[in-house]
Amino acid sequence: MSIQITNTLTRQKEPLIPLKEGEVRMYVCGPTVYGLTHVGNARPNVFFDVVRRFLLFKGYKVIFVSNYTDVDDKIINKAREQKVGSLEVSEKYIVEFRQDMNALGIRIPDVTPKVTEHIPQIVRFIEGLVKSGAAYVAEDGEVFFSVRNFRGYGKLSGRNIDELLSGVRIERDEKKRDPLDFSLWKPQKAADEPAWESPWGKGRPGWHIECSVMATEYLGESFDIHGGGLDLIHPHHENEIAQAEALTHKQFAKVWMHNNMVTIDSDKMSKSVGNIFLNRDFIQKFGPETLRYLLLSGHYRSPIDFSEKHIRECQAGLHRIYSTLARSQVFPKEGSESPDGKKVMEFSASFSQKWQEAMEDDFNTAQVLGIVFEYVRLMNGLMDKKKPTKLAQIFIDDMKILSGVLHLFSEEPTAFLSNLKLLVAKERGVIVDEIQSAIQKRKAAREQKDFATSDKIRAELLAKGIELRDSGQATDWDILFKETT
Ligand SMILES: [Zn+2]
Repeated sequence: MSIQITNTLTRQKEPLIPLKEGEVRMYVCGPTVYGLTHVGNARPNVFFDVVRRFLLFKGYKVIFVSNYTDVDDKIINKAREQKVGSLEVSEKYIVEFRQDMNALGIRIPDVTPKVTEHIPQIVRFIEGLVKSGAAYVAEDGEVFFSVRNFRGYGKLSGRNIDELLSGVRIERDEKKRDPLDFSLWKPQKAADEPAWESPWGKGRPGWHIECSVMATEYLGESFDIHGGGLDLIHPHHENEIAQAEALTHKQFAKVWMHNNMVTIDSDKMSKSVGNIFLNRDFIQKFGPETLRYLLLSGHYRSPIDFSEKHIRECQAGLHRIYSTLARSQVFPKEGSESPDGKKVMEFSASFSQKWQEAMEDDFNTAQVLGIVFEYVRLMNGLMDKKKPTKLAQIFIDDMKILSGVLHLFSEEPTAFLSNLKLLVAKERGVIVDEIQSAIQKRKAAREQKDFATSDKIRAELLAKGIELRDSGQATDWDILFKETT
């Protein structure tokens, strides 16, 4: 089966047929670098990283381009606030962004173009649009794209110009011929605004034009996949199409993929709503893999609910999977095979095909995780029988292959679990030293056969969600999750 993708442009699930056989060229809108990124921002980064990894896994050559918007009003404002140059702001936040992405295991794109390094290409592109009549120059040197001159404006959002006009609140601008016309080149208004020479005077590019220029620069006039959050469909992506196709007269991106939002109480997580959770705060509190897992726990076209309950479920899910991996590592593999292994063996034999089919069906990561939990459940049931099984190793190997695509479950299991339990204990306000001293007290009580005290200590810890596990003389502790998976 080929990979099926829901294409926003056609509103259909269609097979991926690359323009050039065996090669997928894709562009994903990158960040405007003026602040630290939050969990909502990370969703496209994590999701399209998985898309890229899966395409590579399937043997495609992938060229992945994602830009940095390093000139923008927000950056200029921040620079003014901090009394520094705007390039200083953008460079700082590119470094911070990369740091967060590294923590999340996101591979660096093949090309990460910056707007400020592509001004000559952008100017040439706008010149072409003006020349062909697709764009016009206002008196003060601002250049606008004329939406009514581009047949097909609105095709991505599925609305025509008049519908778009009535649906969006647009500030009246005397310079524009039509309210939906948008800026390609903005004249410099203040001396501290970054500006470059152009045929229309000193100024800087508008936001939308950069993606059309840099995508075609590195991927060609037509390429396979353009991605981003669904909040970018209109106007940003609609404008990208208009600019590119008005110039090249060729289809810009063949497939448009849009991820849904991260929501809190059904509001989109965003700076303007003021309900953001920074990626690095999340990572410090809950661990990087919990965030990656959270962002892959739902289908990319559905919203993801950001709540404490959901975060706990993700931690519990990871705990369950890693515990099964840790158990499998030390489980006896040689000897008379358990007769109960037959059913698990059948599942195991089809596991690889099952999860790949889920990924091929519009990258259904939520379904992949469901398949993993089925495997985990079967493996635990089998290992409970306490008979050696070769499947313990096969399970580890199968999960390793999948972890290359999701970039989950790739840590050393025991190390991951001990980190996780420390994080969760801290969150629950449990002090690890106190657990250790309770374990010592309990040991002393048991030595004196004072089982009432021993049981009381155990029950007290259990009430805090800490479970003691005795093996021989040693006692260890672990976090108790309400298993929801
Ligand atoms: Zn873009």
